[in-house]
Amino acid sequence: MEKKTDLKNLTLEELTDFVRSMGEKKFRAAQIFRKMYAGADSFDDMKELPAAFREKLKEAAALSMVEMKQRQISSDGTRKYLFAIAGGEAVETVFMQYHYGGTVCVSCQAGCRMGCAFCASGINGLTRNLTAGEIVDQILHVQKDAGERISHVVFMGTGEPFDNYEEVSKALRLLHEPKGFGLGARHITVSTCGLVRGMERFARDFPQTGLAVSLHAPSDEIRRQLMPVAKSVSMKELLEASRRYTETTHRRITFEYALIDGVNDRPEHAEMLASRLKGMLCHVNLIPLNTVEEKQYRSARREQAEAFARILEDKGVQVTIRRSLGPDIQAACGQLRLADANRP
Ligand code: SF4
Repeated sequence: MEKKTDLKNLTLEELTDFVRSMGEKKFRAAQIFRKMYAGADSFDDMKELPAAFREKLKEAAALSMVEMKQRQISSDGTRKYLFAIAGGEAVETVFMQYHYGGTVCVSCQAGCRMGCAFCASGINGLTRNLTAGEIVDQILHVQKDAGERISHVVFMGTGEPFDNYEEVSKALRLLHEPKGFGLGARHITVSTCGLVRGMERFARDFPQTGLAVSLHAPSDEIRRQLMPVAKSVSMKELLEASRRYTETTHRRITFEYALIDGVNDRPEHAEMLASRLKGMLCHVNLIPLNTVEEKQYRSARREQAEAFARILEDKGVQVTIRRSLGPDIQAACGQLRLADANRP
């Protein structure tokens, strides 16, 4: 049997070609696209299509690319989902409620090969890249389940977005498409561990979309202990690429900094960080580390985080301490992982 075409992997133009190849008129593609992004799960929900065409579509095309296997709800309302993907793997996706609206944190790879020392996602390495359709489908499923419009998307789940640049950029275009999901570029943030070539490409391709860089250290020495990527990209190169990003896009860049007890959370680390970021159009997001069972690292204490933030502020660096959402269901930053689709 021929493999069905996954419609969520198609741009509107590609869908139009597909619909035409089935002998139908162009406007049918726009109807399917609109319904798909409004959350239709089956072709039978697309009542405006002729019944005979719906039957043909069922034979030739598939609508859903991920399947919800599990949902956990945290005491703070955060929801963590386990979605099965083709090939027997599963990825985790998180829904968070912020004052500015519902936010989804998506995964873009099954596993991750970046191997950051404090993160659960890279424990078993990379299994495979997700397709654009698998990325956007996580958001559509969460939107339906949460029962509210998703207003923000962050690429901070499992995987390194710039290690899967083609599919992530296609997913961004699909999410922006006004005739489909229609999410403004400024409502999306992509996070990287510091792949500088990806950052440069991203600045040219998506100048309106937010960029967050996982910095996690004030020096090469500490960064190399925590993040293998730091062995090939120095802080100097990374911060130069970050400055170029702000100059090209005129947008502020976010630096993520997980505060780890005794490793990178001392006043001298804050001083060093402040001097390296001096004059840059940036914002530092301090994240008290979320504990991962298999890892030895522990979170900095609250007073330590506050003292660190004060030093940055005094030196003129914009900073916030991120509130941790969903730690009781292992849904917080760094706690997501590649999972078995058959997990009970
Ligand atoms: S922090 Fe990001 S880049 Fe590093 S291992 Fe985890 S998912 Fe991969």
